[in-house]
Amino acid sequence: MKKNYLLTPGPTPLPPQVCEALAKPIIHHRTPQFQAILKEAVEGLKYVFQTKSEVFILSSSGTGAMEAAVANLLTSGDSAIIIEGGKFGERWTELCQAYGIKSEVIKVAWGKVFNIDELKDRLKSGQTKAVFATLCETSTGVDFDIKAIAQAVKNSAAVLVVDAISGLGVVDLKTDEWGVDVVVSGSQKGLMLPPGLGFISVSSEKAWKLINQSRSPRYYFDLRLAKKAWEQTDTPFTTSVSLVVALNAALKMVKDEGLENVFKRCGKLAQGVRMAAKALGLKLFADEGCSSRAITAVNVPAGVDGEKLVKTMRDVYGITIAGGQAELKGKAFRIASMGYLHEFDIILALSCLEKVLHQMGYKFELGSGLKAAQEVFLIEN
Ligand SMILES: *Cc1c(COP(=O)(O)O)cnc(C)c1O
Repeated sequence: MKKNYLLTPGPTPLPPQVCEALAKPIIHHRTPQFQAILKEAVEGLKYVFQTKSEVFILSSSGTGAMEAAVANLLTSGDSAIIIEGGKFGERWTELCQAYGIKSEVIKVAWGKVFNIDELKDRLKSGQTKAVFATLCETSTGVDFDIKAIAQAVKNSAAVLVVDAISGLGVVDLKTDEWGVDVVVSGSQKGLMLPPGLGFISVSSEKAWKLINQSRSPRYYFDLRLAKKAWEQTDTPFTTSVSLVVALNAALKMVKDEGLENVFKRCGKLAQGVRMAAKALGLKLFADEGCSSRAITAVNVPAGVDGEKLVKTMRDVYGITIAGGQAELKGKAFRIASMGYLHEFDIILALSCLEKVLHQMGYKFELGSGLKAAQEVFLIEN
């Protein structure tokens, strides 16, 4: 017998409430019944996005919402700055290239703290139309200081666009208070749903102005259509009805727990993973000053085959964590602390990690990682 557990940075485990909602009979999307559901979903999203402005629901994965941001805000030849500190920062660069945007890439060493001064300097040219950043860089386990970035961008003509696909509902992002113009996210990470929904908030006049001016080709992801439809509590095309129904179940859970408490819970889980890794003599990939609440990347110790470690945990013991991406392939593993996860899920994953590390010949005191995590979880608040 094998039980399966998911501790990956998307998809994340589904709560029973979400599964139950997904099992409901389908209803038609152009009905008052569904309009009420859609309204509730958008209200709930506004709470999680921490904005009073529109949040649009797209039938796509998170990358669709990223593409919507680029296609709607910019036109070929426009200049944009991309803060790129990992695999997902690179996605902004690739998207901008696809749309012919003149991209200035600020390379941040993977796992290192971002120095805001470089952004401030680059913004001085006054040519930048948009700055693209990432709340949680899932590939490296780094959270970016979006508040500081927003502060810098606010004093320029540019809009700030944040990829909060893995960070939303895990890492604090005060969209309105900090002045973040556009935020994109997806359903399968902090929001505890299957993949399939993309979200995008537009919270400033500055951003709407760009959207109305853009001459980039767009059709399915045209936010002008989404805005117009929303005036009638509608979507321009058939939406993912069942996922939206399930979204309300997930958003209700977030609301019941309280966003601040969700942040705290995830932060504590990440802290447990970090302390366990250190106790096991392992090195964390990200610097302490920027380590993420949503995901922890741990370096694979010398002499251990990182890919085999992850594969054994998954295929032999049913515990799925993530390996390293791109340049971290085989060199790191990543344990998520987002969505429907609890301290004992982390304990379970750590116990499996210890077992497999031990089997692979890595020398450490069995139980020392678990003990360190337990000590973190014993602390109230
Ligand atoms: C998962 C992820 C994406 C990609 O989202 P998809 O839903 O796979 O399209 C983009 N950015 C970040 C930070 C992510 O974690």
